[in-house]
Amino acid sequence: MPRIASVLLPMPLPEAFDYAEPEGLGLVVGEHVTVPLGPRVVRGVVTAIRDGTGGNRPLKPVLERLDDPPLPPGVLTFIDWAAKYSVDLAAWPLAMALRGLRHPPAKPDRVLALTGTTPARMTPARLKGLAAAQQGPMSAAALASLAGVSAGVIKGLVDEGALAVAFVAPDTRFPQPDLTRPAQTLNPNQSASVQALGEMLAAGGFQAALLDGVTGSGKTEVYLEAAAKALAADPDAQVLVLLPEIALTQAVLARFEARFGAMPAEWHSGIAPPRRRRVWEAVADGQARIVVGARSALFLPFRKLALIVVDEEHDSSFKQEEGFIYQARDLAVARAKIEGALVVLASATPSLETLWNAQQGRYRWLRLGTRHGAAQLPDIDLIDMRVTPPEPGRWLSRPLVEAMAVTLARGEQTLLFLNRRGYAPLVLCKACGEKMKSPDSDSWLVEHRYTGRLVCHLTGFSMKKPEACPHCGAKDSLVSIGPGVERVEEEARHLFPEARVAVFSSDTVFDAAGARALVETMAAGEIDILVATQAAAKGHNFPNLTLVGVVDADLSLRGGDLRAGERTFQLLAQAAGRAGRHEKPGRALLQTYAPEHGVLQALKAQDRDAFVEAEMAMRQDAGLPPFGRLAAVIASGPDPIALDAYCQALAAATPNAEGVEVFGPADAPLALVRGRRRKRFLVRADRSVNLQGFMAAWKARARVPNSVRVVIDIDPYSFL
Ligand code: ADP
Repeated sequence: MPRIASVLLPMPLPEAFDYAEPEGLGLVVGEHVTVPLGPRVVRGVVTAIRDGTGGNRPLKPVLERLDDPPLPPGVLTFIDWAAKYSVDLAAWPLAMALRGLRHPPAKPDRVLALTGTTPARMTPARLKGLAAAQQGPMSAAALASLAGVSAGVIKGLVDEGALAVAFVAPDTRFPQPDLTRPAQTLNPNQSASVQALGEMLAAGGFQAALLDGVTGSGKTEVYLEAAAKALAADPDAQVLVLLPEIALTQAVLARFEARFGAMPAEWHSGIAPPRRRRVWEAVADGQARIVVGARSALFLPFRKLALIVVDEEHDSSFKQEEGFIYQARDLAVARAKIEGALVVLASATPSLETLWNAQQGRYRWLRLGTRHGAAQLPDIDLIDMRVTPPEPGRWLSRPLVEAMAVTLARGEQTLLFLNRRGYAPLVLCKACGEKMKSPDSDSWLVEHRYTGRLVCHLTGFSMKKPEACPHCGAKDSLVSIGPGVERVEEEARHLFPEARVAVFSSDTVFDAAGARALVETMAAGEIDILVATQAAAKGHNFPNLTLVGVVDADLSLRGGDLRAGERTFQLLAQAAGRAGRHEKPGRALLQTYAPEHGVLQALKAQDRDAFVEAEMAMRQDAGLPPFGRLAAVIASGPDPIALDAYCQALAAATPNAEGVEVFGPADAPLALVRGRRRKRFLVRADRSVNLQGFMAAWKARARVPNSVRVVIDIDPYSFL
């Protein structure tokens, strides 16, 4: 019986296409194939096979089966689920799942091996070469260096037939975790949590838990032991740990290495393509048993995923905002459900969505109350900037500077936290008032002093800082307004010339190795004052850090969006939690112009429950997540008339649906990006509504002109 293969291609097509299976090919779902698409040959993945011929229109045949490891069924289901969830094409999650395969497979290594033939002419150098070759096959260079002879001598031995060339598969084995190594002695709270997770693993099937404990309470230790249990229970089981920032992976990798005596596989955008290929293959064949990575690791081809940990689950970096839009924490729960795995969401400040699920009993709620051992939570105090303002042109108030001086005198470390890259967020002309803007976007240019450039953080556009105002031509009239980390660093150096000051932001630390180096320098006590954006506010553990100064505690409250309060609370609680993680008590000082604000009062009182309760009540009243659902439509295009016409047509086509409210179209707050105008709709729906179904049906009702791009964002985090 002839068969038809549905092949999903990683390109913008509405669905999988059907191809005829050449007789005897024996394709299996998940295999990689090449197929014709118009005049091109493209690669794709078989998602279904059925009997048939395609009827009266004969189908084009599958051309070739590729050797790459097939995608397991769980991944295929997950791709389909993720696409439906995001109301987008399955091609995009498929492309993410294939990311590890872009690099060609590793070539076999060329090695030399003894043949047993003795060369006709023996010399002392040749003898050395043959002696070294006794150690086993190796490359010509390795052999020459081991024997201490020249490359010519080795070549002579090959020419004489004493050594033969062979090709062997490169050594791609992954070190296996040693499960016999002892665990740390856990404190009673940790033991109870590990036991609960162990029971959940033993029960099997999909389950979810919230691991809720203040920073430093030992959550990492708990999920290490949960991983140990999962790996020990089944020799094929695999564990995935998702982290919000590449900068955090190093510390977690080191903890796993210390616990299991083997480095886990690492997966994020900073991994070189050949290495990525190896990790992908090792995950697919089950050799890589522990993977630590960024959100995209969720799309890896795990064979037998038993446990997913989402650490810092509240972190908004889990939301991917560009290309395929998804929230990795939510997709992690979905993947666990598909795989029948346990998912553990860990945080000191869980998202309201997760807390609500825990309150409803959908997630098992495991609490680690206090910090491990002697470590105490830091005291948090507010500095009222209206009462003690800094000097003009300065950003650090007297109480904070005094606390820094005391800390420095004690030989302890200070972290100054400001979530703003660069030197100054705005440059304006004091002669004409012109604000320096990106030429094709609606955003101010940020001054970077290290590079002497003005940079658009939205699009990456940059220009040399001009000497005269480009608008009025006045010379030396451009002034820097407001602080970024570079400016705070300058002030710290000025105040404490003898102190060692460093900056941690994505402009000073480019990759995982740089992050590791800076974190190690800080941990070793070789920095006195670290000025950092959120890249350093999370996760890290610095024993001698006892003072955290938050330069602008009001910054993220100004965003004014749905999660502004929640985000501020989380970010500042995390930042404050960096202080006093070991024996020495810590202190956090928050500079604010609105000390009476509920979020800041809750932080000062360290009363997370009160904050959560107030925030939940507000969301419930307004029907906002987690009590209702949101989605955004962002339409953009270079031609304002076509864009307006499309938005009007879409508005007119809004389906009537109970429990759904549609707002818009409105100009987006960022109304111009890269020369494209932007408009937004916001949809609020009751929880009972099938929001994805509504969005898909709505979008299908209005034809999209060529010049317009439409993006659907389910559960938006950014409202810009
Ligand atoms: P969290 O993940 O909640 O921030 P960690 O697991 O990183 O907390 O623990 C904080 C610190 O306490 C770390 O230095 C960790 O090594 C240490 N620690 C946690 N639990 C234990 C334990 N049971 N025994 C010894 N040290 C521990």
